[in-house]
Amino acid sequence: MAEKIQGLLAKLPAVDVLLKRSAMEELVERYPRGAVKAAIQETLSSIRQEVLQEKREVLPEMSELEQMISQQLVEHQFSLRRVINGTGTVIHTNLGRSSLSPRVKQQVGEISFHYSNLEFDLAAGTRGSRYSHLVEIIKELTGAEDVLVVNNNAAAVLLVLSTLIKEQEVLVSRGELVEIGGAFRIPDVVTSSGGKIVEVGTTNKTHLKDYQQALTEETGGILKVHTSNYRIVGFTESVALAELAELAHQAELPLINDLGSGLFIDMRQFGLPYEPTVKEALEQGCDVVTFSGDKLLGGPQAGIIVGKKAYIEKMKQNQLLRALRIDKMTLSALEATFELYLDPAQAVKEIPVLHMLSLDEEACRQKAESLAADLKEVAGELSIIVEKDASAVGGGSYPEHLLPTYVVALQSDTFSAEELQQKLRESRVPIISRIKNQANYLDVRTIDEEEFPLIVAAVKALAE
Ligand SMILES: *Cc1c(COP(=O)(O)O)cnc(C)c1O
Repeated sequence: MAEKIQGLLAKLPAVDVLLKRSAMEELVERYPRGAVKAAIQETLSSIRQEVLQEKREVLPEMSELEQMISQQLVEHQFSLRRVINGTGTVIHTNLGRSSLSPRVKQQVGEISFHYSNLEFDLAAGTRGSRYSHLVEIIKELTGAEDVLVVNNNAAAVLLVLSTLIKEQEVLVSRGELVEIGGAFRIPDVVTSSGGKIVEVGTTNKTHLKDYQQALTEETGGILKVHTSNYRIVGFTESVALAELAELAHQAELPLINDLGSGLFIDMRQFGLPYEPTVKEALEQGCDVVTFSGDKLLGGPQAGIIVGKKAYIEKMKQNQLLRALRIDKMTLSALEATFELYLDPAQAVKEIPVLHMLSLDEEACRQKAESLAADLKEVAGELSIIVEKDASAVGGGSYPEHLLPTYVVALQSDTFSAEELQQKLRESRVPIISRIKNQANYLDVRTIDEEEFPLIVAAVKALAE
């Protein structure tokens, strides 16, 4: 017996021999060489195991072996993978926040896979600045004097405070001492940038005189923070931007506004409450405004700083900027995204975040009916029902505001809701559902029609 096993093992081809075969060379053109090699090793090792455990008495033919290796590669998964967002939360931070417009793809490819004029002035033929590329387009969209773009909005706030406040005091309303998910706390950011926070007013009410009384020789600026992920409701009062700007300017201090999401269009068209756009915040007298690239803007992760030239000039001299600098792929994705905003109607149509928010109840119902019809054909014992529900904007935007939507609810007699949810997550393209009333809800607001076949394939495999 042992002799037979030894004989079989000795006949297994070597990795290097396999790698030289034309079928493997074809695979190397499609996949990284390392991945092909790993697939060969894994396939050979599983055959070896089978032989040793006497589960296999003949070796596969060469063509069969090549087929097995190819299959192994197809099943190879990267750690960071695409998923289908069935949660209905449009800006889902755990799921990568906003997905980019298809129009951005080509531009990012063009810049990433070639050399570019990232830090090169094409007109002069001399060294240029990576920060120059977005200046004109953002100036046009916001009316700002100058622009600076960094890694994310947390970095933007840090850079602004460490440049303009330094070791001085900054006034912040007690109603705006925000914590954003993942340990970004305004009081801590101020402290870590070297400044000293001076809390003014109370949690629910802050008046202009609270700011006035807190002004001292030590004050370096006034900070206004968007209460992104919570609302103080009831007996409340805050100071209008224009009034705060007047106070800051009388004292020759900057008014800094961390807007969080940063809007470029009027969200009332989606049935959401009015909030000022970046342009309006500047018009009301803010000297520096910061916002995220991947929240309601619908672009890549980035932090965008707009405002007075003199202040932004100082930020460009800050050593910290080098550590917070933005990558060329992000820059190109951001430029292509901003370009869509030059025509707001096109932005709503083509930027996924805005398009998803723009879907009304009837559009969602039709999408859900269409997905449900496809699923019913393959669902077996699974029950498929279309139900009315509500989606969230997410990303700390409009926390108390839900959008009417329709979901496809999946339920099984065999599996519990939690088991079904896990099985959906284990699909080739993982599907992330939301459990409600013992069913798995797939909210079609955040699912593209092009993803329907993937869901159908997953449910078909599940039903079998
Ligand atoms: C989201 C948010 C931030 C952090 O922005 P990131 O781009 O995630 O770093 C900071 N401030 C406010 C008010 C926010 O809403």
